[in-house]
Amino acid sequence: MLDIPLTSIKGIGPKRAELFSQLGVCSVGDLLFRLPRDYLDYTKATPITQLVNGQNAAVQVRISGATRFFRTKGMTMLSAPAQDETGKITLKWFNQPYRSSQLKIGEIVYACGRVIKKNGASLINPSFSQALPGIVPVYPTVKGVNQRAWRDSIYACLESVWDKIPEPLPRTLLERYNLVPLALALRHAHFPFSREALELARRRLDFENTLLYFIIVELQKAERLRQNGFSFDTSGVLERFTSQLSFSLTRAQLRVLDEIGIDMRKPVPMNRLLQGDVGSGKTAVAMYALCVAAANGKQGALLAPTEILAEQHAQNFGEIFGETVVLLKGSMKKKQREEALEKIANGSALFVIGTHALLSQDVRFYDLGCIVTDEQHRFGVRQRAAMLEKGVRPDMLVMSATPIPRTLALILYGDLDISVIDELPPGRKPVKTSVIPASKREDMYAYIASQAKEGVQSYVVCPAIEESDTIECPSVNALYTELKKMQPETRFAKLHGQMKEAEKERVMHAFRAGEIDVLVTTTVIEVGVHVPNACIMAIEGAERFGLSQLHQLRGRVGRSAKQAYCFLLYGVENQQDNERMLTMTQTNDGFEIAQKDLLLRGPGDFIGTRQHGDDGASLLSGAMDAKLLEQASKAARDLLNHSGEESARLIELASERYGTMLNDIAMN
Ligand code: ADP
Ligand code: MG
Repeated sequence: MLDIPLTSIKGIGPKRAELFSQLGVCSVGDLLFRLPRDYLDYTKATPITQLVNGQNAAVQVRISGATRFFRTKGMTMLSAPAQDETGKITLKWFNQPYRSSQLKIGEIVYACGRVIKKNGASLINPSFSQALPGIVPVYPTVKGVNQRAWRDSIYACLESVWDKIPEPLPRTLLERYNLVPLALALRHAHFPFSREALELARRRLDFENTLLYFIIVELQKAERLRQNGFSFDTSGVLERFTSQLSFSLTRAQLRVLDEIGIDMRKPVPMNRLLQGDVGSGKTAVAMYALCVAAANGKQGALLAPTEILAEQHAQNFGEIFGETVVLLKGSMKKKQREEALEKIANGSALFVIGTHALLSQDVRFYDLGCIVTDEQHRFGVRQRAAMLEKGVRPDMLVMSATPIPRTLALILYGDLDISVIDELPPGRKPVKTSVIPASKREDMYAYIASQAKEGVQSYVVCPAIEESDTIECPSVNALYTELKKMQPETRFAKLHGQMKEAEKERVMHAFRAGEIDVLVTTTVIEVGVHVPNACIMAIEGAERFGLSQLHQLRGRVGRSAKQAYCFLLYGVENQQDNERMLTMTQTNDGFEIAQKDLLLRGPGDFIGTRQHGDDGASLLSGAMDAKLLEQASKAARDLLNHSGEESARLIELASERYGTMLNDIAMN
């Protein structure tokens, strides 16, 4: 069917087939499923005056003068003046001297290409034609295979096998969810005649991928539910736990504790994700889960991504659980480390808190019953798997302060149950956020200095540690020196990832103790750090951070009843940056910000899909469409509820496509 070699297609010779095979494209099917990575919309001509810098556009123009030929820096350039009723434009071709014979003065053509607006408008390397080209697919550029070669090869394949493309989805499903057949979807995904046709095609392909993926998710979930885990006894734990806290839990926290209690009582391992905005009080929830384990004589482990955070947790836990708390981190002395390992191995450590150091081979638990991973996105799949192996089907809770939009969570955490803390502890005031123009930068630092005199601490975050010759970007070292000069009476300190652990610890300790006014730092303080007296967060080079990251950074302040401020400083101005800054000033809601981030950046960037390759990418392309996800998820469950030839066939297809990937992505 589609498993035939490319060379069997007329028009694809052995040389081109060889080039494709280097891309992993060996069969006709492989090629047809290499969907365009983008599309250029040349369905209508844009008036020259309305062209936008950097975008691709079609214009309808009259060639108004002779072409000119230049040589610059080893390149040739051809330029031709052109115009429409609204304005003038220059058509420019680099290294395409043969174009000169193709253009005649006075001729009217459609020219399509990238717009550059600098000393007037120009169009770079435009194609030209007598009719509008419509929607043009764009394939990955690789040496030896240009766009034309992609298009011609795919077209040739479609021509020869189109009526033989098998339909994997049952007809009833196509009808119920209004899906076009696969053959049509492939044709329109490569050569759409309209936006609508393209949309239908992509939707169909996304639906299939998502459906097959959800089939695997459901199967895996069923498998987990068959496993035996420890059934914890939770009676009395909540009362004892709450009496040990210095605050009363919020309603949201209580609800989540309840959900966790139910999970832990069940004789199957808990597999739960806790999402809660920065400062919503996830640590208390982690404590409870570990308390339940301890009450049943089992050990609990809390995995933190940084030493700063692990220490902070150990300190908090230590205040309540005393001697039974043990900290393990990479930078420990040999003797300390051996003591800790001993306590973990003999079971006298009930609350084991640590960094990646916990994953090492020689860390052996006496009886590990529950694992909590803080800031889960900082850990890889393998790391969590390694941790799970240290117990016998232990319960697992992963916590995240990077709220994931529901649509994406469905895909990324298909097999995890999700709890959400959607409420901040009482008395918190939302952080006031503003954008600081360059002209007000010094005033802002004067304000920070005056606040320091009043005992209010600040963070100043820079995107880089050191100055670089190549890119202009605020750095910790340069800013620290500048600020010390600018405000000699303020106590500044530096904190960044290249400092020694002991030094970082010393600085953090001093900052917590109020001996430092302003911490000039990097994103090392992005996660978890809790210093309630720090009320100002200034972010230099804010355009260099993603929205979710800015939100995380802002979350370091506003941790007490005092009004907190976030100041965003940024250099270049462009549409996307402005929009992010605006979002930051308009909302403090992590979920709303995450949703916006998803819209602005697309799902690919959101959670490192790169490691999942093409499969991951094609799967995530459906992540923007909540309705599609819900339908596909329902369809998967329906299919599995009805055993039969059809479900068996789809299960097989699903395992082929996503069987190996799932463990990776579900836990990412
Ligand atoms: P995050 O969800 O960002 O990890 P933390 O667990 O660090 O948040 O909690 C932030 C701060 O809020 C901590 O000082 C914690 O003691 C405090 N806190 C947590 N829950 C409550 C509550 N219900 N009432 C008052 N303070 C709380
Ligand atoms: Mg936290």
